[in-house]
Amino acid sequence: MTQERPITPGFSSNEWALRQEIVERCRELNSRGLNRGTSGNVSARSGEGFLISPSSFPYDLMQAEHVVAMHFDGSYEGDRKPSSEWRFHLDILLARPEVQAVIHAHPMYCTTIAILGLDIPSLHYMIAVTGGDTVRCAPYATFGTEALSHNAVQALGRSNACLLANHGVIVTGGNLAGALYVLEEVETLAQQYFNTLQVGGPKLLSPDQMDDVRKAMMGGYGKARPRGEG
Ligand code: 13P
Ligand code: ZN
Repeated sequence: MTQERPITPGFSSNEWALRQEIVERCRELNSRGLNRGTSGNVSARSGEGFLISPSSFPYDLMQAEHVVAMHFDGSYEGDRKPSSEWRFHLDILLARPEVQAVIHAHPMYCTTIAILGLDIPSLHYMIAVTGGDTVRCAPYATFGTEALSHNAVQALGRSNACLLANHGVIVTGGNLAGALYVLEEVETLAQQYFNTLQVGGPKLLSPDQMDDVRKAMMGGYGKARPRGEG
């Protein structure tokens, strides 16, 4: 019987695959128009801790070995600095055991609504993929701070998305593909919200209508979707 060997010395094949996926997802953020430059960051649970994108590193140059392994006490392996937002990634993963992946980005419309300091209300039934009727906007705090992490964890609650005032958005998922799916949906909702604000504001769905959406989605909506669990 042949034993599976690590692809790269020092990393298990599972960890290496997750590192590679983090790099791919970082690049995807920009190629899909959901982020620009070196803004944003991506993390995923791995072993006893989590893997996170390095700080301020151009995504097109990023390689799997540049991804940083962190522990839940805030310490990290190697010389490369983890994302400056490691604290909210860590706090979200601690607060939400079911969450496997966290993505933060600065997409144009989410960020625009966040600059207005607005929550995204139930303007379209697809807001249900965030696990709530509203995408809350966390109050502003300086990037990389404990205060921002506190505000983000509060605004996120049990949902899969929150805005960060004057900054961007955070999404979570059962895997990286699922988190990216939520990000794309929330950016679409933010654009729809922005559009309707130009002409008097949206006509919202009622809590009862949103309950019906949730029931309909529980029937298996999206289960055949190739890009993650939503
Ligand atoms: P990092 O490059 O340190 O991950 O920071 C990007 C960012 O979006 C900070 O909020
Ligand atoms: Zn940011």
